[in-house]
Amino acid sequence: MLMSALPTLASLENSTEFHARHIGPDAADEAGMLSVIGAASRRALIDAIVPGSIKRAAGMNLPAALTEAQALAELKTVAAQNQVLKSYIGQGYYDTLTPGVILRNILENPAWYTAYTPYQAEISQGRMEALVNFQTMVTDLTGMAIANASMLDEATAAAEAMTLAARVGKSKSQVFYVADDVLPQTLEVIRTRANPLGFEVRVCNGDEALNNDSFAVLLQYPGVNGEVRDYAEWIAKYKARSNGVVIMAADLLALTLIKAPAELGADIAIGTTQRFGMPLCNGGPHAAYMACKDEYKRNLPGRLVGVSVDVHGNPAYRLALQTREQHIRREKATSNICTAQVLPAVVASMYAVYHGPQGLKRIALRVASFTALLAQGLKALGYGIVNTSAFDTLQVQTEGKTAAIHAKAIAAGLNLRHASATTVGISLDETTTREHLQALLTVFADGQALPAFDAAEKGIATLIPAAVQRTSAYLTHPVFNRYHSETEMLRYLRALADKDLALDRSMIPLGSCTMKLNATSEMIPITWPEFAGVHPFAPRDQLKGYALLNEQLTAWLCQATGYAGISLQPNAGSQGEYAGLLAIKAWHESRGEGHRKICLIPESAHGTNPASAQMVGMSVVVTKCDKEGNIDLGDLKAKCEQHSANLAAIMITYPSTYGVFDTQVKEICALVKSHGGRVYVDGANMNALVGVAAPGEFGGDVSHLNLHKTFCIPHGGGGPGVGPVCVVADLVPYLPAHRSAGYESETAIGAVSAAPLGNAAVLPISWMYVRMMGADGLTAATETAILSANYVAARLADAYDIHFSGNIAGVKGGGVAHECILDIRPLKDATGVGAEDVAKRLIDYGFHAPTLSFPVAGTLMVEPTESESKHELDRFCDAMLAIRAEIAQVAAGTWTATDNPLVNAPHTAESLLKADWAHAYSREVAAYPVASLRRQKYWVPVGRVDNVWGDRNLSCSCPPMSDYE
Ligand SMILES: *Cc1c(COP(=O)(O)O)cnc(C)c1O
Repeated sequence: MLMSALPTLASLENSTEFHARHIGPDAADEAGMLSVIGAASRRALIDAIVPGSIKRAAGMNLPAALTEAQALAELKTVAAQNQVLKSYIGQGYYDTLTPGVILRNILENPAWYTAYTPYQAEISQGRMEALVNFQTMVTDLTGMAIANASMLDEATAAAEAMTLAARVGKSKSQVFYVADDVLPQTLEVIRTRANPLGFEVRVCNGDEALNNDSFAVLLQYPGVNGEVRDYAEWIAKYKARSNGVVIMAADLLALTLIKAPAELGADIAIGTTQRFGMPLCNGGPHAAYMACKDEYKRNLPGRLVGVSVDVHGNPAYRLALQTREQHIRREKATSNICTAQVLPAVVASMYAVYHGPQGLKRIALRVASFTALLAQGLKALGYGIVNTSAFDTLQVQTEGKTAAIHAKAIAAGLNLRHASATTVGISLDETTTREHLQALLTVFADGQALPAFDAAEKGIATLIPAAVQRTSAYLTHPVFNRYHSETEMLRYLRALADKDLALDRSMIPLGSCTMKLNATSEMIPITWPEFAGVHPFAPRDQLKGYALLNEQLTAWLCQATGYAGISLQPNAGSQGEYAGLLAIKAWHESRGEGHRKICLIPESAHGTNPASAQMVGMSVVVTKCDKEGNIDLGDLKAKCEQHSANLAAIMITYPSTYGVFDTQVKEICALVKSHGGRVYVDGANMNALVGVAAPGEFGGDVSHLNLHKTFCIPHGGGGPGVGPVCVVADLVPYLPAHRSAGYESETAIGAVSAAPLGNAAVLPISWMYVRMMGADGLTAATETAILSANYVAARLADAYDIHFSGNIAGVKGGGVAHECILDIRPLKDATGVGAEDVAKRLIDYGFHAPTLSFPVAGTLMVEPTESESKHELDRFCDAMLAIRAEIAQVAAGTWTATDNPLVNAPHTAESLLKADWAHAYSREVAAYPVASLRRQKYWVPVGRVDNVWGDRNLSCSCPPMSDYE
């Protein structure tokens, strides 16, 4: 009998290629899309749209793509090069037990990690409730009136507190005092940030700050060596003398036992929430917090979730004081923080919900008991303890045996802190057990018999001084007291997730934000203990896996961008901008041209650009754009000439935030350089470039990438992010160092993040993406992203004005880059229905709105990304066309401008079920404008949220439960 041949092995192997999972449209879809656009092939479309002058000289030199299983196996070998020792290093990072219910249902749950920043309040109620819980947790524990959600890390939070203090303080002094027991990485980041602003940072042990003027002081509570000072009297004296602002960096777990910063007289409290359930992660991502007294609330940087009401009068959350957001403040901005640490903040808040006030206190008491016991044991073994008070940290005199003790500890699998030449630091945490204590004491025992733990069984005396012991209550709100069984907790998390629209339900077509697939295989490694379990200040030879990950990912990203050097340290795009501009500043200074301080920024720029320029001490000069969305070359020439002697840089976004490939970009770069300036290319739009064009080749000197946009790190509901800063060869020496972790460089700018590798633990996501896509896959992704945007533009071109397009003959929609802007203003003028109404009506159709009113007010910016299938793109286009038909009915007079399904959107189930339905359109039209919604429908939990009410009645902590009854 004849057997038919099996397919070739190669063809079978190819079918497991990851790029076909990552890229939504298949070959048949692509053909269909091309025919709607009117292009012969994907390549022909790209050739028509991407200017020939900027195309890459050569392809990217990347290792050949691996399958998901292969890439995981290879990454495992990288991870295995990290050594996971038990950490007693402390210094802002402690081991913690992530409750399983939180690990699986938040950290590993796409309903939480694929969500976008909650700008669209109605579809973000779940995550905003979690963030209000976070804010309440922080205000309760610190005693402050108001807290934000969230800051990037403790060190940058301290730096932001310094600038907040400078804005709100009454002192004219430029001196900023830092207590001598502040965390070293915090001091380093403060120095980086203070320098361009002209602040003088002085480290002191207390007295000096009482005898000299300063605008603010930063205290560490407890200090890095463990001392728990009673600062009440000191703060009173400082304020009487100095008129300065008091900032306290406070440990949240300690605050369950020691007096709140506000009770001691502090004005601002900052710190990390890492030990509330987020693993060590080699330093990040972790949420930091900032809280302050009421007077400062309108100056508080970062995002603030507030309580408001919806149109039906029900309580609803939304981002408060949005006009302060960097999008609006621009060159008047005081902080550039945009992407924050939402997912880690949600984890920390849920850790508090899960344990409740008693549970947290029990954890803290246990840590305090073990610390007291350890002190007793060490003393019994003949060691002196430097600190006279302690919560979780001891500074131990080593009696001349410092090196030997560290060596013995490491041999026993323990890391201690290098506190000084004659002492070591030991910090205990939630995970510490009796066995751990014995292992620690054995290191110090040197053969002596270990002391017994009898005292602890009876209850050992606390090392926390009576005067600082906390008596005030915290976390009394029902939310922290209701969900302590796992069943209750699981259902609470599920109920919150169900309120939100994330990528696990529908596309999120956000221009400039690139909400693409966050593949599960990319996510899996982040909780591997080899990556999640290491301390950022562990000895470098224990972090070889991270060093290799850094080396490989950096090399690949250099290939993708055409740059010579990259630092992965910045933990958001804004921080990459800041680091990049500092590098430019340092370069000018190195040439004796420190006076060059003008930064040109086109009016279309993202708000973080001018904010970052401001923070490095540059002056922003805004340049114009023309009708097509291109930089106005005439205006740019004039400004270059006017500021020639003082020109530091230009910041452009490419393709522009208007979604166009400016054909003159090379000339623009050359022009600025001819006047002595450097070119910063904002890389947020790299999804239109990878494999096709490289900013480092077409004229950029510096770029930041948003790995949380182009390179698949999920948005997390608004963070974490990674914002690598990429530079050309002559700027490589100016990339950020991290001296407190031993990463030295003579010329480098200082640290910009608390940890040397920033949000290190999410880097495996981008590593996996590049490793599984390879050069061809990444290029195909870029081309498909452009194809998909053009398909959407082509399908919607007859119904909506495409605001900026390339006017390319034969391309329906005119030709756009990877996003397109739909101009709703003409419709608004004709009918009263505006972009916001369209955005809210899309919710009824089950979609997250596109980017609303950025970069042009009254428009919607759509970025479909390569990951959405043609089916999903069609569903979205069909919704947009149906909405356009609804607008036509308003235009025709069928519905009035004040009563139609658009202005009343979104429609809650409750509003639809009311007995008195008094609208000009039916309930059916409201709820089921397209038939498929009858089978599958997202029910929005609240009606349209009233932003103005919320800002007038600012409230940013948990509302009383009676509001929900
Ligand atoms: C997202 C974005 C940024 C800022 O990045 P973050 O990570 O949010 O700080 C900067 N520029 C552009 C154009 C962006 O889209």
